[in-house]
Amino acid sequence: MVTHRRCERTSGYGLAMPVPGWRRKLLAAPPVARALIAGRIATGGAVVLGYHDVTPGAEDTDEYRLAPEQFARQLDLVLAWGLEVVPLGTVVERLEAGRPVDGLAAVTFDDALAGVYELAAGILAERGLTATVFASPGALGCEHPGWPGAVRAMSEGQLAELAASGFTVGSHGVTHRPLPGLDRAEQSAELTDSRARLEDLVGAPVDLFAYPEGRHDPASRALVVDAGYRAAFGFAGGRVVPGDDLRALSRVCMHRGQGRLRLAHDLARPAAAWPADPYFAAA
Ligand SMILES: [Zn+2]
Repeated sequence: MVTHRRCERTSGYGLAMPVPGWRRKLLAAPPVARALIAGRIATGGAVVLGYHDVTPGAEDTDEYRLAPEQFARQLDLVLAWGLEVVPLGTVVERLEAGRPVDGLAAVTFDDALAGVYELAAGILAERGLTATVFASPGALGCEHPGWPGAVRAMSEGQLAELAASGFTVGSHGVTHRPLPGLDRAEQSAELTDSRARLEDLVGAPVDLFAYPEGRHDPASRALVVDAGYRAAFGFAGGRVVPGDDLRALSRVCMHRGQGRLRLAHDLARPAAAWPADPYFAAA
């Protein structure tokens, strides 16, 4: 199972969880309507936008690779709805301190794919924004293992260049293997080696982690702390609020199906209206 498919399975009206009932839909309706009618998102908590790639090319049909125009449109809607786009570290700092994160949004990209360097970075810069790139140092400059079909990851030099320009670099494991499938020593190596290699490469602390395929279990949640990470992200759920478990924070899985209406829904939906993270139930 590759990254982008797993992302779909554990987000939205989760396929990995029972279909949410009328209670969740009722909870979501008023804030979504407010966003669409009043043009403001006033839902409590923050949203961490989980992107993968930005690429031109009508032949590309993968829903997690957005055309540049759609990526720009989504960012413009986020800003128009009054969300403040901040570095991911700012959201984490406030959560660590138990402070509110209302009205904040952060942009992230998993897998360090070349389109982020070539296209997304410029679109963000035009708006005065940066993002966090979760990279696997063992999968840079080559076809990414999570993306069959010659989708290339950016090179080490390109990742370092983004970091120098103000992007945050986080770890996505060395090899992009999901941690729950590995034994304890292998999980630990994925966490600690990737951190050391990325810190060498970008010359800055690497203390944020994104679980490959969004998958985690009790061992990986413990080891991510032992390895020195301040926070780790999955893909389940959609909002983060103070009191959330910093070892497995939610993100909104970003995809081509998010036009204005769906995006308003996903960004205004309260934390309680999202399905719970199914990986917390892992034995
Ligand atoms: Zn990934």
